[in-house]
Formats: sequence, C-alpha cells, structure tokens
Amino acid sequence: MKIAFIGLGNMGGGMAANLVKAGHDVHAFDLSEEALARAADNGCATYTSVRDAVQGAEAVVSMLPNGKIVDSVYCADVIGHAPANALLLDCSTIDVDTARRVADAAAAAGYAMVDAPVSGGIAAANGGTLTFMVGGTGAAFAKAEPILAAMGKAVIHAGASGAGQAAKICNNMILGATMIATCEAFALAEKLGLDLQTFYDISSKASGQSWSMTSYCPVPGVGPASPADNGYQGGFAAALMLKDLKLAMEAAQSVGAKVPMGHRAEELYEVFAAEGNSATDFSGIIKSL
Ligand code: NAD
Repeated sequence: MKIAFIGLGNMGGGMAANLVKAGHDVHAFDLSEEALARAADNGCATYTSVRDAVQGAEAVVSMLPNGKIVDSVYCADVIGHAPANALLLDCSTIDVDTARRVADAAAAAGYAMVDAPVSGGIAAANGGTLTFMVGGTGAAFAKAEPILAAMGKAVIHAGASGAGQAAKICNNMILGATMIATCEAFALAEKLGLDLQTFYDISSKASGQSWSMTSYCPVPGVGPASPADNGYQGGFAAALMLKDLKLAMEAAQSVGAKVPMGHRAEELYEVFAAEGNSATDFSGIIKSL
C-alpha cells in the first residue's frame, strides 16, 4: 500500500520504519532534514513537501507535535491534495476539539479520517508494540486497523471521532496522578523506616498496586527495569506528561468535569518541568518529594 507519513520524529521515525518492514511503500515528509535522512535510511521515499508526499497515497499517517500543526498540515496540504479515497490517520496526541474539527473538515471533502493516538513511548514505536486508541466510524476503523496493526500490538476502537484522543488523555490523567501518588508513598515509606524493596513486595500485591508501581517503579533497583534505574533518562519526558495533563484539563473544562487530582498532578508537573526537568522521565518527580 502507498502510505504518506508526515512527522518522522522520535515516534514517527520508528513507526514509518515499521510500515516499510510490513511491505508498505512509505512516502515521508518532515520539516527536519535530519529526520528525513533517517527515514531514507529506513527505506522510506522522501519528499520536500506534504503535498508531494500525499500524491497518489492510499493512506496518510501523521505523528506531529500538537493540534495547531495537525490542523494546518491537514487543512492546508492534505485535504484536497491526497486522493479523495485516501484514508487519513492522525496518531499525534492533540486536543479532542481539534481532532473532531479536522475530521469534520476531512469528511466534508469526502475523506474518511481517524484519530489514533498511542500509548507506549519511543521503544514501543521502534519495536512496533504501540497501543492505538482509535476514534472514527466503524468503516474507517476497519480500514485503519491493518495499517495500525503493522505499528502496534493492540488497536482498539474507542468510538466516534475524537474518542481516541479522549481515551488517551483520560488514561494519561490516571497515569500522572498515580505516578505522583506512588512516588509520595515510597518517599513516606522511606521516612518511616521501611525497606523500599519490602514495601514494594507488600504494596505490589496489595490494594496500592498500580501500573506506575509494578511496570514503571520510580525507585531505582526496585521492581522491573525502568527509567529510575537509568538516572530517570529515556522513557516518557515530564514535558510530554505535562502536555497530556494540560489537554486533559482543557477537555475537563470544556465539558464541566471535576478533576481535582488531575489538576493537582498538572500543577506538580508544571513546577517539576519549570525546575529544569522537562526532559527528565516523568517518574523522576520522586526526586522533588
Ligand atoms: P518529535 O518532536 O520528536 O517529532 C515531531 C516531528 O514532527 C519532528 O520531526 C518535526 O520536525 C515534525 N514536524 C513538526 N511540524 C511539522 C510540519 N508542519 N510538517 C512536517 N513535519 C513537522 O515528537 P514525538 O516525540 O515523535 O511526538 C509526536 C507525537 O506523539 C506528539 O503528539 C506526542 O505527544 C505523541 N507521543 C509521544 C510519545 C513519546 O514518548 N515521545 C508517546 C506517546 C505519544
């Protein structure tokens, strides 16, 4: 299948490479020369504009930094320029309103579009083990599923347009809040004189258990290997957690939902990032507790 891929950064670079490995003819575009050179090394054909990359494409996949960029790439250069039967898949994490607005603009021009944000970081993007949460019609999902399956281990239909983004930000709001709660508990346990491995052995089998504890323990040397064992480098940057929490707060405000824990998590990550930790893994917030 001829697939245009827009946005070949930390995530998109590996995802495009996995589409090539699955036998697709990938036509890539990124504003960065370096990202384009990497894509070429991974077997993508490279182009100098979005419009050139989407010529003749049967599908267009994007992995871009934010909603404003997604809006401008699709509305200026994809819609009306890709073939009318091309399926559009935006895998970026963006706000629900923009996802719905762009999908509506695509539908008005006759395109099927899905929002398909991912769970899993750069390692999962490289390894083809992302989880995709997909918003769009049943028919669009059916067409999107085999394309996404080449880049992930799970592809789940979340509902209509925007539902993928809604699922993503609700999930990451849980993640942000549980990570902070887990960090607090380990910091308190230590001050109370508990051995942290012993506390892990107890809590990981008791009601305090969470993904933040048993899959991504913020304490070095405790639990499975995690960024904590690597000086809080790699993994999921605090700046990206903050981005997702801000999207969750915006969405909550737009529908009048009460999210006090999510709000507090956003405040704490804001301070953590501002103290020079934007690039630090989000579990590194334990250092500030
Ligand atoms: P990144 O900054 O590494 O990559 C984004 C790429 O988009 C860059 O290469 C940039 O040059 C390119 N770009 C920007 N504007 C463009 C335009 N107008 N046209 C073409 N290319 C353009 O970011 P990333 O880490 O790959 O994240 C991409 C998306 O994935 C974000 O929405 C992020 O929230 C989401 N995400 C990231 C992670 C992670 O761990 N990094 C995990 C889950 C989801």
